[in-house]
Amino acid sequence: METVKLYYEDSFMQEFTAQVVSCVEQNGKWAVILDQTAFYPEGGGQACDLGKLGDANVLDVREQDDTVIHLCDRPLTPGNRVTGILDWDRRLDQMQQHSGEHIVSGLLCSRFGCSNVGFHVGADVVTIDFDAPIPASALPEVELEANRAVWQDLPFRCWYPAKEELESLPYRSKKQLPWPVRIVDAGGYDRCACCGVHVKHSGSIGIIKLLSCVKFHQGVRIEMACGHRALKLLGEIYEQNRQVSQAFSAKLLQTGDAARKMNEALSAEKFRSTGLEKKLFSLMAAQYRDAGDVVLFENDLSPAAIRELADALASVCGGTAAVFSGKEESGYNVCLCSRTEDLRQLGKQINEALHGRGGGKPGFFQGSVNATREEIEKFFEKE
Ligand SMILES: [Zn+2]
Repeated sequence: METVKLYYEDSFMQEFTAQVVSCVEQNGKWAVILDQTAFYPEGGGQACDLGKLGDANVLDVREQDDTVIHLCDRPLTPGNRVTGILDWDRRLDQMQQHSGEHIVSGLLCSRFGCSNVGFHVGADVVTIDFDAPIPASALPEVELEANRAVWQDLPFRCWYPAKEELESLPYRSKKQLPWPVRIVDAGGYDRCACCGVHVKHSGSIGIIKLLSCVKFHQGVRIEMACGHRALKLLGEIYEQNRQVSQAFSAKLLQTGDAARKMNEALSAEKFRSTGLEKKLFSLMAAQYRDAGDVVLFENDLSPAAIRELADALASVCGGTAAVFSGKEESGYNVCLCSRTEDLRQLGKQINEALHGRGGGKPGFFQGSVNATREEIEKFFEKE
């Protein structure tokens, strides 16, 4: 039985009444068929509608041979009339993304002679794939033009052209389609074979924001967001930038510059402190000349600095140098160096006795241990 598709008659219908034609149990859910419905089934890259049919929650909507099937969490009585209410935020979001995609695809395909080969509405952003290269530098201008199309509040028209009209009508399509074909005209910016539901006028898209353009197979993948989700995303980005601006004491439009300068300053500081550490470690090592085996605990050393100090010590002490840095609660990082001894056996013992994780090569062991300073010192007294 063909379901009357109210979503094609009025894409802004949020509530409707219908008669329950049948209701069958299906894997713990109820497959409900109505004489008419405003619930759009999944298709054309667009997600299905959710909402309520009477007291039942609609969990999924599919189409099978022109019949729309609503999967519900409880049964409905055939013959009864029921009120359907759509999750409108979800539907409007889907229509904003999908309709925005038409305008962007129409602009890009006519400008760069490419075809749209993929469309996906993700949880956060929408991706559109094109089969030809599009320079990222073209995006700002395309974005502006797409938004001008929104501001003009142009009508979206969907219809099934007669056979003769269809034959002479240029339109985008992923594949050759047999008549009849549903065509959508996106305010003159795009003409495309499409089974989806769209806004009635482009103004309802709200805003079109192009986010990125990266190489994808032979062409590009463009990320974008439209309408409410674009507003939400841009709001979140604005808030992040406000925090960065506050942290750097930089103006809102100068945070990038402030972050770059901070990175440069940090690199210079790292270079300087590594140099100072090197000098300090060789001074420390001089005190352990010919001291034999050495075990040192130092605060707040990075794994690289631990290695540097252990190496400096091993070069003068004539035995094995062990350097630990860390805290009782979180464990210690360790490095062992020796110019004469093979440390592989000792490394294994450290891993076993001090709950360590580490390895290396004959004269070198590096890793971490989960033991107290007292336990570590006891272990080395025995060794
Ligand atoms: Zn469409």
